[in-house]
Amino acid sequence: MEIKELVCIRCPLGCNLQVTIDDGKATKVTGNSCKRGEEYGIKECANPTRIVTSIIPVENGDVNMLPIKTKGDVPKELIFQCLKELKGIKINAPVKIGDIIVKNIAGTGVDMVATREINRI
Ligand code: SF4
Repeated sequence: MEIKELVCIRCPLGCNLQVTIDDGKATKVTGNSCKRGEEYGIKECANPTRIVTSIIPVENGDVNMLPIKTKGDVPKELIFQCLKELKGIKINAPVKIGDIIVKNIAGTGVDMVATREINRI
């Protein structure tokens, strides 16, 4: 049996979690103040994932940079690959919230989408 210490990132409270690992499997979470912390602790030990955010340049827009994010969680170990695939990407205005900027980024099955609207100038 092993105890893994984590900080829950599901809300700003940042509870200190202790996750019990038995035979390589997370079996119990303590230190959480709510159910979301328990879910986070189990998932973080089994299959850690994150939403990836970034910004890319915009041409002919009323602002120069577009904030983007993955539409869902991607495996933590593919975050760097996701960011690498964004290198050199530019978008031409106009842009609407939810427009797909990169489909299936890093082969994750998750699209990278625009998170704000940008008008053409
Ligand atoms: S366990 Fe609940 S209250 Fe604590 S940081 Fe996580 S989400 Fe917030």
